[in-house]
Amino acid sequence: MLASTPTIDRLIRDSRLPRSEAELLLRTLLGCERAHLVAHADDGLESSNARAVQAWFARRWDGEPISYITRRREFYSLALNVDPGVLIPRAETEQLVDLALERLPRGSSARVLELGTGSGAIAVALASLRAGLKITAADVSEAALRTARRNALEHAVEIEFVRSDWFESIEPGPFDLVVSNPPYVAAADPHLELGDLRFEPRLALVGGVDGLACLRKIAEGARRFLRSGGALLLEHGYDQGETCPALLRGLGFAEVADHHDLAGLPRVTTCVWRG
Ligand code: GLN
Repeated sequence: MLASTPTIDRLIRDSRLPRSEAELLLRTLLGCERAHLVAHADDGLESSNARAVQAWFARRWDGEPISYITRRREFYSLALNVDPGVLIPRAETEQLVDLALERLPRGSSARVLELGTGSGAIAVALASLRAGLKITAADVSEAALRTARRNALEHAVEIEFVRSDWFESIEPGPFDLVVSNPPYVAAADPHLELGDLRFEPRLALVGGVDGLACLRKIAEGARRFLRSGGALLLEHGYDQGETCPALLRGLGFAEVADHHDLAGLPRVTTCVWRG
């Protein structure tokens, strides 16, 4: 007699993962909605699919981020490709996109520069919502640029991608807006040994000893690349809500304001260059 295949419900329970995580992995593998899993909870799963999802469950059990297992992540309602060569886009970063959109009215043909684009999440979201923008997105990592290009292609948006170490290979502009979610975690921060961060590229996370090295570099460079009246928007760490604005004021930026994320933590500094 053939061994019976495990039911969907049994697979989920045997995973020992939080149900929501097990369901998300299973839904992604099968390409179905949650309603399908519920409706078919007592049906057996074809054995190749069962084995495949059990392998995913085991990886998740070992701590691997869900988005690196599925290679997908939703950001600003866009399905994006992600892989271990890029930071996993966070919900907090949607706030950075919102603040940029506020400064980029519909129909705007502003020149926008995104530094450290990673998966391309910010640039692709901006391009999808504001078709007229001229966006340049840069990253020092060739692997990240491959993923970002693929995301732009899948969402049918036009973005100029440049391999650049911050401003090093960027044409003079000037830009109307510079935006970045740079690495801002301090090198010795114990969070680096926890959760998803353990699996993400250090290059995308660590901003030197104090976490401010990249923020500082971007802010310094932005003074030469922004037109007068242009804006700089920077995501920063939850504990940099004072140091990041102070850094920008110190460099001569005006209208420096800090914004909290949905969790109520300081997360984004916005400012204007009037040089
Ligand atoms: N927001 C990420 C975290 O602390 C860090 C990303 C970054 O350095 N830009 O989980």
